[in-house]
Amino acid sequence: MNIQGIISLKQGRDHSVKRFHPWIFSGAIQSATETLQDGDWVEVKDARKTTVGFGHYQKGTITVRMITFGEKPNEDLYQSKIKKALQVRVEANVISDQTNAYRLVHGEGDGLPGLIIDIYHDVAIIQAHSAGMQRDKGLIATAVGSVLPTAGFRMSAVYFKSMQEKTESEYLTGMAVVPHVVLEHGNKFLIDWEEGQKTGFFLDQRENRKLLGEMAKGKAVLNTFCYTGGFSVYALQNGATLVHSVDASEKAITLTRKNLELNGYNPTTHACVAEDTFDFLKDKKDVYDLIILDPPAFAKHKDSRHQAVKGYQRLNAEAMKMIKPGGIIFTFSCSQVVDRQLFYDTIVSAGIQAGRQIKVLHHLSQPADHPVSLYHPEGEYLKGLVLYVA
Ligand code: SAH
Repeated sequence: MNIQGIISLKQGRDHSVKRFHPWIFSGAIQSATETLQDGDWVEVKDARKTTVGFGHYQKGTITVRMITFGEKPNEDLYQSKIKKALQVRVEANVISDQTNAYRLVHGEGDGLPGLIIDIYHDVAIIQAHSAGMQRDKGLIATAVGSVLPTAGFRMSAVYFKSMQEKTESEYLTGMAVVPHVVLEHGNKFLIDWEEGQKTGFFLDQRENRKLLGEMAKGKAVLNTFCYTGGFSVYALQNGATLVHSVDASEKAITLTRKNLELNGYNPTTHACVAEDTFDFLKDKKDVYDLIILDPPAFAKHKDSRHQAVKGYQRLNAEAMKMIKPGGIIFTFSCSQVVDRQLFYDTIVSAGIQAGRQIKVLHHLSQPADHPVSLYHPEGEYLKGLVLYVA
């Protein structure tokens, strides 16, 4: 790797990076090479001029995203990191003949801050959340294209899904047609990475969908914020008597209908409704035995945390008021700035507002293909609770 400059840290501001926290904040920097450009590789040194590691530079609050701690990265850096990431998924038993959609690289959790790689059977989708990963996308595509086939997995295409308006999404290698059918615990889903949200599917709910399936038999289910209808398909496959799916986006509802049909269910019997969840819930008292609440991140920044908490509280209180006695609620938050404790406290106040007796049956999180570095707790973003409402 070509190293374009040096960042020196202030005295006393090198502790967190020495404990493998991958972010260097602008306030910790003593001096930086003047010519540095967003996306450059930099060497990071402590106040005594000892090398701490190497990473991607980008002007902003997080100025360096660390990629190696110690050794200078060489040309096969991405190859060896992606190979390790694949080993983790294999060890954790994520991939099987029943599941061929998974996250291969989860940013900081895989030592590659700013990089997401999702695999949909034989297609890899790369997303760059930093200028450095965006610039290195060609190297990354080459690495994915060699690691997966070497390990015995077929690869037809690597697609770069842009996060910025200025940059085009494109196939970096090969071609594939959308939508693509994948398997998740034996359930079929259509994936459209070109038009869909994120990389086309929310892989992080895989194990929570499975648990929902185990609890859905004989129940009337409401899946709100359903997007592709993931939870709806699992509920039906496991014997739910009725499933209603709701999403504000017409596109999402069309996709949900298609996914129900693909798995052999009738989207007329099991209604898919394009409506705001808050409106839909208004007149649904004692209709459902099981309700899923999986809204988008209500807060993306700390400034909007208070607003987000109020949103979660209102949504959960409404569902708690409406659900049948003895009903189950699967409730989630994917806002990084709302931590597990704050989410829990918010659910407590929703319960008080609804005035129902409620027990916690499960604490849920993200699956093994979305790992969290022990030294980077910020990486845990998905929180969920399974509630029994008496
Ligand atoms: N549960 C889904 C992922 C949810 S993503 C899964 O398992 O894949 C969040 C979804 O909420 C998006 O599809 C978005 O269109 C929808 N959404 C956002 N605001 C909404 C609202 N007020 N009412 C209903 N749906 C909404």
